[in-house]
Amino acid sequence: MTVKQMKRSSDYPMLSISEAWQRVSSALAPLPPVRKPLVFAAGLVLAEDIIARSSMPPFAAASMDGYAVISSDASLEKSITGEQDAGVKLDLSVRQGTAVRIMTGAPLPAGADAVIPFEKTGEKEGVVRLQVIPKPGENVRPVGLDMIAGETVLPKGFVLGPAELGLLAALGHFQVLVHPRPRISIMATGNELVAGDETLKPGQIRDSNSVALSAAAAACGFDVMTAPRPINDDINKIEQALVEALNNSDMVITSGGVSMGKLDMVKPLLAKLGEVLIGRVAMKPGKPLTFAMLQGKPVFGLPGFPVSSLVCFELFVRPALRLMSGLNLLWRPCLDVSLAENLQHDLDRTEFQRAVVKSDHEGFIAYSTGSQSSGRLKSLVGANALLILPIGRGDFPAGSRVKAFMINQPEVLKDLPF
Ligand code: AMP
Ligand code: MG
Repeated sequence: MTVKQMKRSSDYPMLSISEAWQRVSSALAPLPPVRKPLVFAAGLVLAEDIIARSSMPPFAAASMDGYAVISSDASLEKSITGEQDAGVKLDLSVRQGTAVRIMTGAPLPAGADAVIPFEKTGEKEGVVRLQVIPKPGENVRPVGLDMIAGETVLPKGFVLGPAELGLLAALGHFQVLVHPRPRISIMATGNELVAGDETLKPGQIRDSNSVALSAAAAACGFDVMTAPRPINDDINKIEQALVEALNNSDMVITSGGVSMGKLDMVKPLLAKLGEVLIGRVAMKPGKPLTFAMLQGKPVFGLPGFPVSSLVCFELFVRPALRLMSGLNLLWRPCLDVSLAENLQHDLDRTEFQRAVVKSDHEGFIAYSTGSQSSGRLKSLVGANALLILPIGRGDFPAGSRVKAFMINQPEVLKDLPF
């Protein structure tokens, strides 16, 4: 191709961020549920309602070590008629004037309705002396305190954390129906790239995106397969890698090759193999962000500039992976912050400037990480926020209030915050 023949305009419309997300979210759905052992289900989303099969606890039990007594029996001295340990059910009962020595977790003997702890008693020659009379039900865990048989204890859509998994184990579930986490393949493309262990020749650079994007995916708990070496800007080689990746994963992420250069092969290849739903987005960094569906699976073509690829991951890929996992909360929180310094901003795109947000007695203050070039990875190093500078507004003077998307905080929002 000669310079004259090179394309001057894109075939793809410039989408707003919300239109672009709309296209991604309507193309994707939570992965079909699978049954998994509880030990592999931490953090996954429940795909069935869990109904309690039995009440918990299944019997009234002592919640302190002490003596099981009748609370309406006013006698302070009682003869001890036996001892009830946890884990067995002896045929013991308590009557007026008697008590049974009992340990935490042991079933309450018939007749008893309260436990007086050892600390509030004295014992001598088979007789216990109470310092006080306990109230009805004191230090007793009644049947069904935690849950009653037949109750819906966890609804579909719940995220399984430690307490939820503990509850399932208590109910005797060993496996649970969940949405699996998507498996991801990541590949870098570019003739100038070499893997980190190779020596650079003139004109070459090391592939840093594979490492950075794999870390970004691993940080949100996803399994990643990363191509061991970058792929040349050769349409056949990229196609071969892409097809193989699609067979082994639920989502493919490429980096590089989505701009207007003569060797930018990824967009035309995705258009040949599937449907390109996003070709350009009015954001900075990340304008050439590409999204396509191939064989029913999503492919994100991220721009090659290291900051662009990570910001696109943060804004689009991470929420998409969460959506495919069945999670409801897709977006991290935003804070209102005030700018410590002037920021320059092009008014034709929403910009995500990297910053460190700190809190002081006046509220949250954002400090820029310096030059915001999308090739300058250092602008993201140590940053905890992306400052959202909206479309249609020019520069922002120091002291302006802007929204900061907090990239070090867990997701709390259902809806796109920018
Ligand atoms: P591209 O999107 O392919 O036009 O690449 C844009 C810029 O990002 C170029 O300067 C590339 O050298 C650089 N780049 C592309 N891929 C990577 C990568 N995997 N690691 C580091 N830099 C990259
Ligand atoms: Mg390239």
